[in-house]
Amino acid sequence: MPKKNSKKLSDKKQKERHRFFLNPYSDSAFTKCPKCDAKTKIRKFPLVIHIQPQQLFILNKQCRYCENCDLIITKKQEIESLMAAGFIQSNPKIIGNDYLVMGTVDRKDWKEGTQNALSPSEMLERIYVFQDVWDFEVIPAGWYRSE
Ligand SMILES: [Zn+2]
Repeated sequence: MPKKNSKKLSDKKQKERHRFFLNPYSDSAFTKCPKCDAKTKIRKFPLVIHIQPQQLFILNKQCRYCENCDLIITKKQEIESLMAAGFIQSNPKIIGNDYLVMGTVDRKDWKEGTQNALSPSEMLERIYVFQDVWDFEVIPAGWYRSE
């Protein structure tokens, strides 16, 4: 009889946690959660960013966080200027490439990573990808004529 439930290593599921919103509005800090309206807190997360073609970058950054929704909010502009600052010496060619904020790592893994104690593949194994990525639109305040 063939065994049905033999487990392969490659079946290992990617770890997931948190929801994420990359805030494109420089004038909107989202002190309130755009989903549930609760006050957001300021918290640091080691964000994992994949930059094209093949660069992982971990940015330990202050973000807005809604505990109810498990939602991390961070400004696009801030991420981009921090990335530019991070690469201006080491790899200026990469600045301006497409990138994706893909998840977070634990603080201890981030620390090991900054000391170059982890290889890129070891780092990849420790990433928690985002459970979900949300998008919100801000409607500018003002007077609107009804149609
Ligand atoms: Zn919320």
